[in-house]
Amino acid sequence: VFADFLVLGGGIAGASAGYFLAESGRVMLLERESALGYHSTGRSAALFSEYYGGGVVRALTAASRAFFTGPPPGFDGPLLTPRSVLALCPAGSEDRFEAVLAEGLTAPVPVREIGAGEVRRYCPIVRPDYYSRAMLKPAAMDIDVDALHQGFARGIRARGGQVVTSAPVRELSRRGGLWHAVTGAGEFRAPVVVNAAGAWADEVAAMAGVPRTGLAALRRTAAIVDPPELPPPPEAARTVPGAAAEPGAAVARWPMVADVTETFYFKPESGGLLISPVDATPVPPGDARPDDLDVAVAAARVQACTTLVIRRIRSAWAGLRCSVPDGTPVIGEAPGAPGFFWLAALGGYGIQTAPAAGRLAAALAASGGVPGCLPPEVTLASLAPGRCQPAGSPAA
Ligand SMILES: Cc1cc2nc3c(=O)[nH]c(=O)nc-3n(C[C@H](O)[C@H](O)[C@H](O)COP(=O)(O)OP(=O)(O)OC[C@H]3O[C@@H](n4cnc5c(N)ncnc54)[C@H](O)[C@@H]3O)c2cc1C
Repeated sequence: VFADFLVLGGGIAGASAGYFLAESGRVMLLERESALGYHSTGRSAALFSEYYGGGVVRALTAASRAFFTGPPPGFDGPLLTPRSVLALCPAGSEDRFEAVLAEGLTAPVPVREIGAGEVRRYCPIVRPDYYSRAMLKPAAMDIDVDALHQGFARGIRARGGQVVTSAPVRELSRRGGLWHAVTGAGEFRAPVVVNAAGAWADEVAAMAGVPRTGLAALRRTAAIVDPPELPPPPEAARTVPGAAAEPGAAVARWPMVADVTETFYFKPESGGLLISPVDATPVPPGDARPDDLDVAVAAARVQACTTLVIRRIRSAWAGLRCSVPDGTPVIGEAPGAPGFFWLAALGGYGIQTAPAAGRLAAALAASGGVPGCLPPEVTLASLAPGRCQPAGSPAA
């Protein structure tokens, strides 16, 4: 099968690149699993935060905001809903708090320091003796990841492209000016490939004889626990006067709560609370599984910060956050490998940066140009493949 562009990997990165590439030619998106979003993309905390990550990541996130708030036709909206983040300073972390505060004050919607009264109003279970200072990151939002992902996939199909699942790429080589991908679902050819294989991106590169980027897959764990039983809100605060208070309704409006040293977070999710120990354990690429100890650490840290008593873990999972040592994504053409483009190393930011990162990768792969809407912090050098290459990296 011939195409103009082969996109390898159907997570949010591949789907976004494929969506924008489909404006320029026929896209074949090849995904190993039987459904999109089985790996990192389906396991995230789904947060959009312009306060999070290094300068390039924050700029890519800010450049994605307009897409999220006003998506083109074909996306079931809204893609963002208000959430906000409450960042607490445990005793001894004042320097870190100051640094986070100073940086947050430069965000498009600046953070603001808040007092104990406001902390209690935002999240009544936080123990006043846990923290010395607190700040609110008001513009953080929840992302409807599935709506974004499916919207991208729908857009690929609507523009004449194809999303091929159960198509593990097993061989990749360049012959006669075309990349040949041998998969479990047949052979595909195109002059351009985009490597969006998540944790497996270095393996895909090695398959093609392209130097690895030095990607590390870091496991992060999350679990859902029952929400606390809160006293019913006053009659006046109920949506339907006289009706019984909806259990969990107040909890659903809480912000994400985290400590500034990033040892845990919790946020409302699926009628309960999503908790994480903010772990980053290096593991080989694969189907990440939660470790009981990491789940227990998350529960202990959340209980130390709050009055919550965790009696039951409803569900737990783990996913891979993949990055190179400088923490910035890898986007661009591989040196010495014409037509081989990277869109990888998206760390803990792959969903919130997907519109801008996908658009940039697509523009580079389709025409070598850079989209005009990109902010000046986002330079091709800062994203260049090969900048963090491991010493003596084998070509294959
Ligand atoms: C617990 C957790 C919380 C997170 N929270 C957030 C958050 O709040 N906000 C945010 O923006 N990000 C968050 N992230 C990060 C985000 O999930 C990732 O950055 C993003 O999903 C990466 O997308 P991807 O498409 O690169 O990878 P993936 O979703 O892993 O997709 C890669 C795909 O490539 C496929 N593939 C691999 N090899 C082959 C092959 N040989 N042939 C065919 N297909 C192949 C895989 O099957 C996979 O589907 C979080 C991550 C975790 C684990």
